[in-house]
Amino acid sequence: MSDIALELNKIRKSYNKGRPNQIDVLVNTEFKLLAGEIVALMAPSGAGKSTLLHIAGLLDEPDSGTVSIAGKKLNIRSDAERTFARRRRVGFVYQFHHLLPEFSSLENLVIPQLANGENWSNATQKAKKLLSKVDLSNRINHRPSDLSGGEQQRVAFCRALVNSPTVLLADEPTGNLDDETSQKVFDTLVGVVRQTGLSALVATHNPNIAKRMDRIVTLEKGITKPIRI
Ligand code: ADP
Repeated sequence: MSDIALELNKIRKSYNKGRPNQIDVLVNTEFKLLAGEIVALMAPSGAGKSTLLHIAGLLDEPDSGTVSIAGKKLNIRSDAERTFARRRRVGFVYQFHHLLPEFSSLENLVIPQLANGENWSNATQKAKKLLSKVDLSNRINHRPSDLSGGEQQRVAFCRALVNSPTVLLADEPTGNLDDETSQKVFDTLVGVVRQTGLSALVATHNPNIAKRMDRIVTLEKGITKPIRI
């Protein structure tokens, strides 16, 4: 396996292309995430963090450039291949949990595994194991509305991890939580990422959280740069 988990190469992305209000968000953007690394992405609102994460996570296509995960170029393939790769290779966590409201924590973790071809028994076992890692064994039958904000995000992290991705991408995952809860949720994330040998790129505005990652990068005019805070 490649020791580079994720690589963005000469990525370009503009919105409103060819119109007077064209915005060039990513301009020859380069970024490498090493295997096992947890990196913070810190940049002002509007700098292009979500755009970069969506492209890295194969949720959106760049105008040009390549996205490689574990050494495989992925964004030049067909839609079906990209979707397949995304389901297997990428876990995504948003600021809002986006759990299915009518299903329990357990079911929210089982359903994506079934969609990936796993059988019910293995999927349930894996879901329970992950929920226990984030101290939610006593919440497996709760629906999202019966969970606290921090608990909802811990379930969302587990859901991102159920299909054993190579890369975890998180877009302001603690943005809706108070500082103390953010720290706890982040500790859980780091613990699970370290245990599983995953790599993670986490956009955050919270300097206390960013400082605890392996390194911090910013986005300036579409270019990623290392920073210290
Ligand atoms: P961030 O996550 O750093 O706040 P975004 O990636 O969401 O930044 O947005 C970067 C820039 O691109 C912003 O100026 C935003 O308004 C613009 N933008 C994002 N998505 C679209 C879109 N679908 N159409 C037009 N402009 C967009």
